[in-house]
Amino acid sequence: MTETTSAADAAAREALRLIGPTPENWAPLPAGVDHNVAVVGGGQTGAAFAFALKRAGVGAVTVIEAEADPARAGIWRRSARMGKLRTPKNLVGPELGLPQLSFQAWYEARHGREAYAAIDRIARTDWSDYLAWYARVTEFAPRYGVRLVRIEPAETGFRLHLQSAAGPTVETARKVILANGFLGAGAPFTPEVLRGLSAERLAHTSEDIDFERLKGRRVAVIGGAAAAFDVAGTALEAGAAEARLFVRRPALANLPVSRARAYPGAYDNYPALPDALKWRSALRFRRSGSTATVDAVERVAAFSNARLHLGVTLLSATEGADVLTLDFGMERHVADVVISAAGYAADPALRPELADFAGDILRWRDVYAPPAGDEDESLGAHPYLGAGHVYQERQPGAAPFLKDIHVFNPSAFVSFGLPVGDVPSLKRDVPAVVAQISRDLFFADLAHHAERFAGDVPADFPHELYASLLHGDAKALAAE
Ligand SMILES: Cc1cc2nc3c(=O)[nH]c(=O)nc-3n(C[C@H](O)[C@H](O)[C@H](O)COP(=O)(O)OP(=O)(O)OC[C@H]3O[C@@H](n4cnc5c(N)ncnc54)[C@H](O)[C@@H]3O)c2cc1C
Repeated sequence: MTETTSAADAAAREALRLIGPTPENWAPLPAGVDHNVAVVGGGQTGAAFAFALKRAGVGAVTVIEAEADPARAGIWRRSARMGKLRTPKNLVGPELGLPQLSFQAWYEARHGREAYAAIDRIARTDWSDYLAWYARVTEFAPRYGVRLVRIEPAETGFRLHLQSAAGPTVETARKVILANGFLGAGAPFTPEVLRGLSAERLAHTSEDIDFERLKGRRVAVIGGAAAAFDVAGTALEAGAAEARLFVRRPALANLPVSRARAYPGAYDNYPALPDALKWRSALRFRRSGSTATVDAVERVAAFSNARLHLGVTLLSATEGADVLTLDFGMERHVADVVISAAGYAADPALRPELADFAGDILRWRDVYAPPAGDEDESLGAHPYLGAGHVYQERQPGAAPFLKDIHVFNPSAFVSFGLPVGDVPSLKRDVPAVVAQISRDLFFADLAHHAERFAGDVPADFPHELYASLLHGDAKALAAE
């Protein structure tokens, strides 16, 4: 460990010391239940929850992470391929109000204040290194290599069906937090016309892509958002013969519509907005399309063998003996490999672990009928979440356990107005979810807490402490 890193460590430890000892677990486990809370996902969200729950005195928390290798947890060393985060460097994240645990504190301890002032945004690999440090100083210890495959409602909480190298197991938990990222929100989206292609020819940006294999090959990328430019840039740097991006939009004008509501009043009060305004806002965001950052476009534009095709819609893809033909109507192109950069679908019905009750989950389409012209199937499939980011029932009384599943992945976007799980969402939403969990567990155990309130507590000091102050009869009585 370098001296500068240990300076960050020392400051973090001091901050943790100054906020006082970690409270003891106050939420007793019911007989036969293994965990108060099971957090599914050991990325930045899982880490922030583990820390926040610990500080709230909610113990018996387990965090499971499907990846066996800690370096592969979260997206930052896997499917994220950008040079720098899109998020402005000064937006706070998992430090949850403790400046000494922030990216800035970590970075300045390593490189100095001037260096921090000089960066415009955070390098992806720096963010990943920072998260590894955050995990260390907050003693984040997920169980790596353990995948949740099924949530089965039980009499108390849930039976969680897990899979690990040791085989399948079942554990029980009262609450579940889904901190499982974009993939946990639904599924990678690949346009229908590509779905029949062989795995040799087709990939999605969410996958591990062997870029070495793309050397000398023609790569077609479907999509024009950040991930499309990132994957094209990575392929070109790896020696692809060419990379062509095919985009339905006629232009890539950068319209960062979410910035229109990036001020504290809008941000903090968003969850309480009327449905119509939430829908309009989500729709505007969706229709404007997410765009790449300037540096992501520049990275691709630096290659003479990169091409951008705007205003084109893929009509069919035909796999020949050694080539793919992509038909866009007015244009036809050949490629060796096509990569879908068409994003993700957010839909509980696509998640195997929710199969027992996906049909019971209330969606936006069940609740809100948009005005003509504002319909959107994809937004309608998003869950209509309640306070604390919980699933709600389509039929009241049919699935009361849903209120114990807290959804902290991008499917919370329409209800809460943020790509939930993103760095800036942690500050607003992790404390709100933890407060709800604390409330639910406390009131579920109210009889226990009422008994605890009424219970004997040891005296702070003995009678002798003030015996010498007493006078008259009281002194005589005390002496007896
Ligand atoms: C290409 C790309 C670029 C992005 N750029 C930014 C950006 O610049 N700024 C920003 O704030 N956000 C960005 N995001 C959003 C990004 O996903 C989040 O900021 C961040 O990854 C969220 O962290 P997370 O822990 O919620 O989810 P993830 O990082 O996705 O981690 C989820 C974890 O859950 C685990 N998991 C999933 N299912 C299971 C299961 N069944 N059992 C056990 N474990 C499971 C996964 O293995 C994974 O480790 C980007 C996303 C993508 C895809």
